[in-house]
Amino acid sequence: MTRQKYIFVAGGVMSGVGKGIATASIGKILQSKGFKVTAIKIDPYINVDAGTMNPIEHGEIFVTDDGTECDQDLGNYERFLDETLTSDNYLTTGRVYQAVINKERKLGYHGRCVEVVPDIPNEVITRIKKVAKKTKADFILIEIGGTVGEYQNSLFLEAARMLKILEPNNVLFIFISYLPIPENIGEMKTKPTQTSVRLLNEAGIQPDIILGRSSLPLDALRKKKLSISCNVVKENIISAPDVKSIYEIPINFEKEHLGNQILKKFGLKAKTHQFKNWQNLVKTIKSNKKIVKIGIVGKYFESGQFILLDSYLSVIEAIKHAAWYFKFEPDIYWLSSANYEGKNSIKCLKELKNYDGIIVPGGFGPRGINGKINAIKFCRENKIPYLGLCLGMQLAVIEFARNVCHLKNANSTEFVTKKIQYPIIDIMPEQKKLLRIKAYGGTMRLGAYSCQISPNTISAKAYNLLEVSERHRHRYELNNNFREILEQHNMVIAGINPKSNLVEIIELKNHPFFVGVQFHPEYKSRPLNPHPLFKEFIKSAIRKHHHN
Ligand code: GLN
Repeated sequence: MTRQKYIFVAGGVMSGVGKGIATASIGKILQSKGFKVTAIKIDPYINVDAGTMNPIEHGEIFVTDDGTECDQDLGNYERFLDETLTSDNYLTTGRVYQAVINKERKLGYHGRCVEVVPDIPNEVITRIKKVAKKTKADFILIEIGGTVGEYQNSLFLEAARMLKILEPNNVLFIFISYLPIPENIGEMKTKPTQTSVRLLNEAGIQPDIILGRSSLPLDALRKKKLSISCNVVKENIISAPDVKSIYEIPINFEKEHLGNQILKKFGLKAKTHQFKNWQNLVKTIKSNKKIVKIGIVGKYFESGQFILLDSYLSVIEAIKHAAWYFKFEPDIYWLSSANYEGKNSIKCLKELKNYDGIIVPGGFGPRGINGKINAIKFCRENKIPYLGLCLGMQLAVIEFARNVCHLKNANSTEFVTKKIQYPIIDIMPEQKKLLRIKAYGGTMRLGAYSCQISPNTISAKAYNLLEVSERHRHRYELNNNFREILEQHNMVIAGINPKSNLVEIIELKNHPFFVGVQFHPEYKSRPLNPHPLFKEFIKSAIRKHHHN
């Protein structure tokens, strides 16, 4: 009989209250008690994956080693659990329906009528079981996206309900709800949570544990109210107030004894208690630290009057991990690429000197390109530490080709439709074919590829390795026909893919830190194991900070 346990995490009242981080934190606690944990994210939309979604609307598109373009919560799980996840850890309505339809076409249902219920929830259960079998995890956490009461996620709740009846002793439900404190009343209100628990009950699910998200901790009175009205013992009403750093959340949950309450429900006992490293990390985060100022020049953070930082989540986290390693706190500034082209650009460019390091992250399409190129030129000429990620690498090469190699109007074929003389960044032939037939979804160069590093380079020093594996998400590449002229002008080709000979890393000499990578190192940074390139970048930013 299976001993594997399934914990479903669903949310109520509203989205955006941190279900992903809460799920990752629950996993962290169970891990610290000596159990193997994995996590699955369910997104209730029809998209097969997150790759075709606009990052302003949906946040960062995270990429796994196996090349799945998925929700940023998989990044949260990887960072908290320090585990490498796969395509199986990500479910969408699109994926589930696609599998059911494909199976039907192959007579997989042996001629019977295939129905939304139970065939869709059954497919969901099959997929959850597949992860359980493959990972051999003691706990499989399953986060159901959206909020209860939405039409969209009801089939996933149905799957959760069905699994509970099939394996009553192996399934637990955790409900994350929001408790508002309206300004004009000044009191924390429990009614919206009570109502959403009723909605969950209507779906045939009784929560075992409620996590009460609010700006403040839940007091005894609120806990009592929720306990009585939602049928959950007081000990299982867990307070989850806002915190300064997400990495504090597992520690807060532990203060409320969440881990032991979960184990108690399953009749299990902690095997160990290994939380020291995480506690030390949080201590570092909360201590007073010196500041390092990092500017990110991008375009995906302006949403009307608001600034949305979700599009670059892994980049932000990677910067923090590296800075904390040196006991610094990063002050991250969002610099719109539009500032560096047109009217005020000279003044704005000069202001780049106030930062200790500049990053140009990934991006698509021609908007904002010239501003980014101008900012990169300024970093190159003024010796400001620069890290270019994917598009940030491609633009560094374009800038260098134009201004150092004098290849006038050198460009990427992504940004111009007509034929150009110096297509310094170009599309691979097989990618060109895909675009012609509009095969956009899941077809970029995706996931882990190996990169061979040249000795005596900044990258070799940072990694202390000569072969690494990094994750990709792009269609365009440095055009090898121009490699020689770039090298003649002292650009260093510091990393190549050993099979395809594609350029993976470029660097500049006589500069404190100027590195561009075709891959996305940010995806692999973990709080207790910062990424080597981010570490080296922050190190040189700190050095600049001291010289200022
Ligand atoms: N738009 C560029 C490409 O497709 C860069 C992609 C990225 O930055 N992720 O190659």
